[in-house]
Amino acid sequence: MSAPRLSVDRERCIGAGMCAMTAPDVFDQDPDDGLVLLLHAEPPAAHRAAARMAAGVCPSGAITLHEPEPDDRM
Ligand code: SF4
Repeated sequence: MSAPRLSVDRERCIGAGMCAMTAPDVFDQDPDDGLVLLLHAEPPAAHRAAARMAAGVCPSGAITLHEPEPDDRM
């Protein structure tokens, strides 16, 4: 039941907004400084493809997607 986890680095974010445009259910932009806001660190299955795409299009590499190991069992 492991799901990919997202993390964002607001120090690297340049506020380009690509993530919020690509996956608006997972990312938003801070209305004050324009930097990324992570809405879902573990996006539901329906939004994972968009979240992956957003991580790929982020121009500053501020989004990291931590994929679970295939045999990651406790
Ligand atoms: S796409 Fe990257 S640089 Fe742009 S707002 Fe999102 S995290 Fe920040």
